[in-house]
Amino acid sequence: MIGALVTIAILATTIFSTWLVGRSGRLIRVRTTLPATQFPERADVYACDKCGREVTKHFRPGQSHSWKPMGPTSFVCRCGQRYLTGAIEWDHLGPWERHRRIRDTFALGALFSAMFSVLGLLAYLVLRFLFGSREAGLIVGVFVTALPFVGLQLTFWPGVLASIWRTRVGRSVEHA
Ligand SMILES: [Zn+2]
Repeated sequence: MIGALVTIAILATTIFSTWLVGRSGRLIRVRTTLPATQFPERADVYACDKCGREVTKHFRPGQSHSWKPMGPTSFVCRCGQRYLTGAIEWDHLGPWERHRRIRDTFALGALFSAMFSVLGLLAYLVLRFLFGSREAGLIVGVFVTALPFVGLQLTFWPGVLASIWRTRVGRSVEHA
């Protein structure tokens, strides 16, 4: 029983870590440089076509075509050249896409929390029966289970709010 639980727990952790690494998509490789107009072709460094300044930090390479990162849609280099960043603001996503992102964030959070509940149960059992503390077991168990769900919401909603702020408030401040 405990052996099976440990196996499932290790499996859950492995899948979650692999997913996190895959999402950040950073593997060790040689640094490549491209002219900025070549974006979104993959490169580590982008240089402005016109003046040669490094403009890498403005670009937002997406994890996938179906999930553009949230951020300003374009930026202007100090030389005046305008580029698209590859990002999109929340307000520019259609209602269907917004709904999909909210749904996916909740569904993915629930899925990972379901996997982590095995770890939570293990922690509960250890604290309850090895250390004799039911309260500590419950607190740690619930905490471990809720962690992926809460973590995903925390990576998602501040980005949405920041985007809405930029689009609705930031612009009016800029024009004031
Ligand atoms: Zn430039």
